[in-house]
Amino acid sequence: MKIRKCLSYDDVLLVPQYSDIKSRKEVTIGNSLGHNLYFDLPVISSPMDTITEASMSNAMSMAGGFGIIHRYNTIEAQCKIIEELPVETFKAAAVGVTGDFFERSQALVESGVRLLCLDVAHGHHIMMKHALEKIKKDLNVHVMAGNVATREGFEDLCDWGADSVRCNIGGGSICSTRVQTGHGIPGLQTIFDCSMSNHTRNVKIIADGGLKNSGDIVKALAAGADFVMVGSLLSGTIETPGEVYHGTDGSRYKTYRGMASKDAQKNWRNKTSSIEGVSTVVSFKGPVSEVLSELAVGIRSGLSYSGARTISELQSKAEFVSQTPAGQVESSAHILGK
Ligand code: IMP
Repeated sequence: MKIRKCLSYDDVLLVPQYSDIKSRKEVTIGNSLGHNLYFDLPVISSPMDTITEASMSNAMSMAGGFGIIHRYNTIEAQCKIIEELPVETFKAAAVGVTGDFFERSQALVESGVRLLCLDVAHGHHIMMKHALEKIKKDLNVHVMAGNVATREGFEDLCDWGADSVRCNIGGGSICSTRVQTGHGIPGLQTIFDCSMSNHTRNVKIIADGGLKNSGDIVKALAAGADFVMVGSLLSGTIETPGEVYHGTDGSRYKTYRGMASKDAQKNWRNKTSSIEGVSTVVSFKGPVSEVLSELAVGIRSGLSYSGARTISELQSKAEFVSQTPAGQVESSAHILGK
C-alpha cells in the first residue's frame, strides 16, 4: 500500500515575485494547443448539457477561448449545432469511446469540427486506447482525451495518440465520484504530477474541474496546465442551455448538473447506473462575456504578480507555498468573521 500527501488548490499559494511589468497590457494570457491552434484565452467550456451548445460555443470563441459541444444528443442533432455555428467559431465536440463513437466522430469531422474530445469519466482504460488509436489512424483532427488522475494515465493517453489530455478525476463542483467510489486525486496534484512528464513537450495538459475563481486558474496554469476547462464558473449565464427559473423574491436561477447525475442520466438514456454527479440550481449570472472578462483580468493580474509576461514564463518562475488552515482563512475575505 502506498500513501502520499497530495495538494489541491486551496492548500497552496503562489509567492509574489519581483516584477518589471509596467502595465498589465504587457501580459499575454493566450496559449497554443499545438498545430496552428492558438487561443487568446486559455479557457474551455465543458462538454455538458447545461453548459455548452451553440450559444456558449460562440461566446467562448468571441472571448478568445472555445467551447466543446456535449455529446448527449443524436449524431444528427450534434452535427446540426456544429453546422449552424458561424464560420469564425472554433468547432469542437465531444464523443464517447463505445457505441456510435466512430460514426459520430466521422460525422462531426465532416460537419467541420477541428477538435474531437473523447469524453469519459475514467479515461485510463482499454476502451480509450482502442478509440484513440482508431480515431488517430482514420481521422485528421486534434484529439483531446480524458479524464486521467495520474502521470501514468497521462503518458498512456499520450502514447495512444492524444494531442491534449483532460486531467483531474473527481474534482468537479457537481461531481460525486470520490464520495461514490472513494477514488480520485486532489486536482492540483494531478497537474503537478502530469507536468513532470516529458510528453508535455508535444501534448497539452487541460486542468479540468474544481476551479472556483481566477486564482485557481492561475495556480493550475502555474503548476503546468496549458488550458483550463470550466463548468461551474460559467453555469447560470445566459448562454448556457436551459430555461431561467424565477423565484418568488424576484431572483433568477438556471440548472447546472453533472452528466453522471441521476437527472442527466434519466434524460439522455432513460435509465441510471452509477450516479456520480449531482444536479442543482445556480443563480442567474447574465452574459458569459462579463464572467469571462473578469476571469481574464484576474488571470492577467495573476501573471503579473509572478513577474511573468506569458504562461510559459509563469510556469518557469512559479514558486508555490503550502498554507495551513489558518492561512486559508486569512486568504479569503474574512472581515465578517471579526
Ligand atoms: P466544475 O468546473 O468544477 O463545475 O467541473 C466541470 C467538470 O466536471 C467537467 O468538465 C467534467 O470533467 C466534470 N463532470 C461533469 N459531469 C460530471 C459528473 O456527473 N460527475 C463527475 N464529474 C463530472
